[in-house]
Amino acid sequence: MKLTFLGTGTSTGVPLLGCRCSVCTSSAPHDKRTRPSLMLEYSGRTVVIDTTPDFRAQALREKIERVDAIVFTHAHADHVLGLDDVRPFFFRQRTPIPIYADTRCMQSLRRIFAYIFEQTYAYGGILKIDPHLIDGPFDLWEQRMIPITVLHGNLPVLGFRFNNTAYVTDFSTIPEETLPLLEGLDVLILDALRHKPHPTHSTVENSLRLVEQLKPARAYFTHIAHELHHEETNAGLPPNVQLAYDGLKIELN
Ligand SMILES: [Zn+2]
Ligand SMILES: [Zn+2]
Repeated sequence: MKLTFLGTGTSTGVPLLGCRCSVCTSSAPHDKRTRPSLMLEYSGRTVVIDTTPDFRAQALREKIERVDAIVFTHAHADHVLGLDDVRPFFFRQRTPIPIYADTRCMQSLRRIFAYIFEQTYAYGGILKIDPHLIDGPFDLWEQRMIPITVLHGNLPVLGFRFNNTAYVTDFSTIPEETLPLLEGLDVLILDALRHKPHPTHSTVENSLRLVEQLKPARAYFTHIAHELHHEETNAGLPPNVQLAYDGLKIELN
């Protein structure tokens, strides 16, 4: 399985519009971050976790040729607003794109993308999806996906564990009883917005504590705001922990 970080930025993306700070004006490629999403490629299939408002640019950058399934963490704008841009893959593949979301997220998707769910537009050209509700572990082409409920402020959102890897973006708290699901990992990907506390996001310090506690072989941080310089921040992290960056690829056995 190959993982690709399609985006590693917080909800606004980095640079932040209008900002002249040193990260937003940095010329280092790793200081540019599109909205957060992860792509999984295995068995000739392509699965994306979330479709961000940057999905089209991410797909062009990574030369994505197909999307076989979309798995959603939650329905905030930075994670879902690119759904319509998977249309060309539906046209090419000629089969409705399976999407996976929990009940709350599916309800929001149904409201935001009513025209897709209702299929009322009579002139063709509309995306067709095949919605699946997540209510426990599910399989995508022999790969077990284990949903992990975490708290994004008060909102329960999903992370996913698959192939000894876990992707947990957008959380401020991981409930105690959930922590065992994140033990024994090769790769742990965590939200780490910035250093300063935030009501709905984890910080570098909080995520480092989780890494110490959960002891994955490697950890990557994502959903990164403009407060964090890529290189400077990485220089201060332990060797098995790094800020991810757009386009970063990881091969898993
Ligand atoms: Zn987010
Ligand atoms: Zn800035």
